[in-house]
Formats: sequence, structure tokens, C-alpha cells
Amino acid sequence: MEQVDTSACVHCGLCLPSCPTYLVTGDESESPRGRVVLLNQLWGALAVGGPGDPGAARAVDSCLDCRACEEVCPAHVPVGHAVEAFRARAVQAGHRRHPLAARQAARYFGTERGLRRFQRLAQWAQRPAGRAVLRASARLGGTAGATSHLGAGLPEPVGRRLGREGVRFGGEGPSVALFYGCVMDSVYQTTAAHAADLLRLSGYRVISAPQQVCCGALHTHAGDPGQAQAWARQNVAGFAAAGAERVAVTAAGCGAALKEYEHLLEDDLDREPVRQFQQTVRDVAELVALGPRPPLPARLQVATVHDACHLAHAQGIRQEVRDLLRWAGYQLLDMPDADVCCGSAGLYNLTHPAMASALQRRKVKTIPEAADVVATSNPGCLLQIQAGLRYAGRTTSAVHWVDLVWQAARDAGAL
Ligand code: SF4
Ligand code: SF4
Repeated sequence: MEQVDTSACVHCGLCLPSCPTYLVTGDESESPRGRVVLLNQLWGALAVGGPGDPGAARAVDSCLDCRACEEVCPAHVPVGHAVEAFRARAVQAGHRRHPLAARQAARYFGTERGLRRFQRLAQWAQRPAGRAVLRASARLGGTAGATSHLGAGLPEPVGRRLGREGVRFGGEGPSVALFYGCVMDSVYQTTAAHAADLLRLSGYRVISAPQQVCCGALHTHAGDPGQAQAWARQNVAGFAAAGAERVAVTAAGCGAALKEYEHLLEDDLDREPVRQFQQTVRDVAELVALGPRPPLPARLQVATVHDACHLAHAQGIRQEVRDLLRWAGYQLLDMPDADVCCGSAGLYNLTHPAMASALQRRKVKTIPEAADVVATSNPGCLLQIQAGLRYAGRTTSAVHWVDLVWQAARDAGAL
């Protein structure tokens, strides 16, 4: 990958208060402005064959790729893409390895067989024996310890099937295919079926798109664009073969990645199919928010919203989720800093456990005590926040907003 142009940065510092790593450390090198300067130094070192200053490389690597800085930057400096491009080139030049977690994700998420193995592992981890093993191994260091630590956020198991197997197809209206997402499909097994029900209620015909694969987001963030590009081409072809007029996504990280396939595949000769695909992609909230909303009664549950970075900052979607929860009868409480990263950030909580834990604790402290549920829209955030709540001894649950709205519509007989 080529160096991404960050020369528009005027070093104004407006981005600093929005950067989660800067909020934790107060260190300029761990801010967007600092990283822009360090990236230039590191690319300079790469140009003469060196790895550059290890401290600078660490500060760039600790970027969450949350894109909060891009949203507030008056010069629209693409810090996230700049960091991704540097990680990829550093790997290419042999100065950096793909993180172990990214290599494991590539093993599991590339094929249907791999995904089924991951699903079996996730289901084992959700059962009492699996939870006990994870609790015991949470004391280990490195990726194993960080993965086990996250096990506290796993929801109760609901069945043995992939989430996609519970989806009911059909309905009237424009065709929409769900993008299942590897972790959503494996851990949050009811959400795809619930999303399909809400889409039918909103006037869509839900169709199957069986040729889909992983979106590639984890690999793009970790510096492995080659794997992400291969999967992106498969997805473009797979959804075209299904004839989907819309592609609906429940995972914010996947949605942001799918909406940026033109950037990922910018060197492909035939970009028209990619452009067409990208225009069909919507978060489920965007589609359901435009549909008819039969009146639903008020509920006793109090909800608060955590804005997933890749929904709020990368896709600009915030209000739709709140509107839909209000429609569903939930009383909403504001969460301070609702769009500050919870520390999940793809594989970040596995590769940078100390910073991820600091952000997790910060997030849990901002969740209002009176909230029964934290509604969000990304599997990583659900796991990270639920684990943080359990470690803090809180009874509040983290739940995908789709499941909350579905339950309300179901209870009212609208589904
Ligand atoms: S990245 Fe944008 S907001 Fe941050 S210092 Fe540069 S120009 Fe200012
Ligand atoms: S992408 Fe997020 S963590 Fe990285 S510099 Fe921007 S605000 Fe900070």
C-alpha cells in the first residue's frame, strides 16, 4: 500500500479531545496530530530501508483506527487509512508481523468450514465448562489471556445453529440480503433472524446470499489488505449473484468495511461492480428507520446507547438507533461520551490489552447506573462492554439494539 496523504493537517489540535488513546495517556504522540507527524518520520525511515524509531512505531500502532479524529478534523485528514497503510507496508517490508490474533482470524473466517469451527468454539466458550476454563486462563498473559478475559462478555448460548440458519426469508418490496458477519453469526445467534423480521416489517423482501464471506475489516486494520481484498472481491460477486438491491448489516465494523470497498479495491481494473455493490450497503438501522412504524407501547426497561465507532464516526449513524429504541417504547438515558471507543476496536483488545482495559473501565464508568441495558451495534462492543460490566459487578446488560426493538415489536404482536 502507498503512503496516504496527510499533508492537509494544519496541526490545529482540534482532534485531540476526541482521541481515546490521548484521553487515557495525555501523550501527544498518542494523539492524531502526533501520529500524523510520526507517520511521516516512519515512512521516511521505510524509504531508506529501516524500521524507524520503535517508540514512534508503537505510538502509531496503538491507534484504535476508531476514526473519531476524522469526524472532527476540519481538513478531513484520513488518519485511520494512513495508519492502516503504514501497518501494511511495515509488514510487507518485514519490520512487523501480522498479530497472532489476525492470523487466527484468517484461519477461521476465510471459509464456511473455518467459520463452523469458530462457531463450535464460541458455543463451547458460552457453556459452563468453557466459561470456567476461560476464567482460569484469564490470568495468562498475551493474546490467550486477553481472549479469555473477554470471555466474561459472552452471552448465554441460545442454540447450536449459525445465526443465518434462523433467518426467515420472504416479504414484499425491494430485495435485501443480510450480511451475517463472522462474530455476529457465531456468538449473537438470534440477531440476524431478528433483523430479517424487522426488515420484512419495514417493507423489504429478505433474500438469501449464500456466497458471502468475511468482510475483511479485521485484516485491513491489522495490516493485511491482501486477504481483505480477496474476500471483498468474493463478496461483490456473491451479492451480485444473489440479486440483492440492498445489503443490510448488523455489525458496524463490517458495514464500514463494506461501504469502503472502493477504497480497498482502488487498484482493481474493473471498479464498476465494486461501486455498485458499495451503493447497496446499509446498516439495518438505516433501512428500518425509513420503514412504517406501527405504534408500540411503552416498556419499563431503561436503555442507554453506546455508539460503535464504525457506526458513528465511519458511517455517521447515531440518531436512527435512538429513534428506533424510542419507537420500541424504551426510556432512553444519555451516556456521556457515548461515541468514545470502548477499547474493542476489531482485534485491538487482544493486541493491546492494557489500553483496551483502560478504555473498557472508562466506558463502564460512563454508563448510567439507572440503565437496564446498553444498546449498541457491533459484536466487539457487545463483548467488551458486557465483560466490563461483569468485572465491575454491574447487572446492566449489553444488547444489540436489533434484539431490543425486535422484542418490543414481538411483545406488541407487530411481528
Ligand atoms: S488531524 Fe485534523 S484536527 Fe488533527 S491536528 Fe491535523 S488538521 Fe487539526
Ligand atoms: S483513529 Fe482513533 S485512536 Fe487513532 S488517532 Fe484517530 S481518534 Fe485516535
